[in-house]
Amino acid sequence: MPASVESTILSFEHARCVVEKHAAEIPPPAAESVELLSAADRVLAEEIFADRNIPPFPRSTRDGYAVRSADVARAPAVLDVIGEIKAGEKLQKIPTSIEPGQAVSIMTGAPVPDGTDAVVMVEHTRREADRVEIYKSVASGENIVPRGAEAIEGSRLLHRGSRLNEAALALAASVGKSRVQVYEQPRIAVLSTGDEIVDIQSIPGPTQIRNSNSYSLAAQILRAGGEPILLPIAPDEPQRLRVLIEEGLQSDLLLMSGGVSMGGYDLVEQILSELQSEFFFTGAKIQPGKPVVFGRTSAVLLPRGQERPRRSALEEKVSGETTYFFGLPGNPVSTMVTFEIFARPMIEALSGQHPRQLAFLHAKLKSEIRVKPGLRRFLPAIHSGEFEQSEVELVAWQGSGDIAAMARANCYVVVPPESEHIPSGEWVALMMR
Ligand code: AMP
Ligand code: MG
Repeated sequence: MPASVESTILSFEHARCVVEKHAAEIPPPAAESVELLSAADRVLAEEIFADRNIPPFPRSTRDGYAVRSADVARAPAVLDVIGEIKAGEKLQKIPTSIEPGQAVSIMTGAPVPDGTDAVVMVEHTRREADRVEIYKSVASGENIVPRGAEAIEGSRLLHRGSRLNEAALALAASVGKSRVQVYEQPRIAVLSTGDEIVDIQSIPGPTQIRNSNSYSLAAQILRAGGEPILLPIAPDEPQRLRVLIEEGLQSDLLLMSGGVSMGGYDLVEQILSELQSEFFFTGAKIQPGKPVVFGRTSAVLLPRGQERPRRSALEEKVSGETTYFFGLPGNPVSTMVTFEIFARPMIEALSGQHPRQLAFLHAKLKSEIRVKPGLRRFLPAIHSGEFEQSEVELVAWQGSGDIAAMARANCYVVVPPESEHIPSGEWVALMMR
């Protein structure tokens, strides 16, 4: 820890609150119009309304017979079939009046004719020429979705700030939105640091390792709704590191990996403090990931001779020149965990999404866990089974540098700081990946 940076180590909850508070203050980015087909996973920048009632007519949810429910109150009953209505039937072909004792053959998705108030499933009928025998009575309204029951014309279907998943896209399509307004994706700079780290194209020397963190971070950024910008690897050397940090601060958010522990070559905080940074925390009581740093800087000093890259409209709005940053610990599992619990909400906010809360599933622990108390732990684990059989087991690992163990895991078991021993069979909280 450089002398100039005051150490602020918060509990997980407190640190998360700090991030959420800053995320909530970020104004939405600029919007652009895209074709609906390209809008999957993007964030909606407009409200979408129902252009007509949904459904626009009382819709049959079954193949069968539209009837007056009173006619079949006592089943079996025999009715006269006076017509047939397919889905998409022309209006002129739909009977306008149904007399007592009459029924109309109807298909799923077809408009139910006036005068009928229920649909009997075809499975409960037997047809003979133009008569049908109904075996089962139906309540009024059964198997019919009334006009406007799903949405009234003019009502809001999708909110600004929602991520366009498949259901949202289907809904937009159903109201004829062939183009939609979405927010521009924030540019998230990724800076991996460390003298021992080499590019994946080069052959590592005997004591070097390849840069894997930039790739895990890029994947997590994409999932969170950002556009990753991978910077060159920064050595543990102040001048070059500073140039790359300044370059990263041109983006909408800077994520650094490595260089934030207590080691003599951990220079990230030192340089950020020289850039007049504000540090909100310099550690969290978690494991892995304790040395995580969160802050912002307002001084962006460009290296001489370098032109200022185009900044997104978003940045112009974020209180002048302020750029947030995270210093994520370099151990690969620490980097992944700290991204998920701290960096993600900031990227979601920068991309215009509504803040989402952390959701935990629960599963039964297969083998006991023993830990030292004091830290909230996020331990890589394998979840298996469904419903009451939902089980979880920690993966065997060599600590937070073990990427191979992490790749076998599909979740984290979240251990509260007061726990020392969790016996097998206990239900524990999981954070899914
Ligand atoms: P640091 O946080 O810089 O002390 O790094 C902690 C550990 O993470 C060291 O063993 C590093 O070699 C490893 N590490 C740091 N950066 C990366 C990276 N980009 N890819 C893979 N491992 C890394
Ligand atoms: Mg390092």
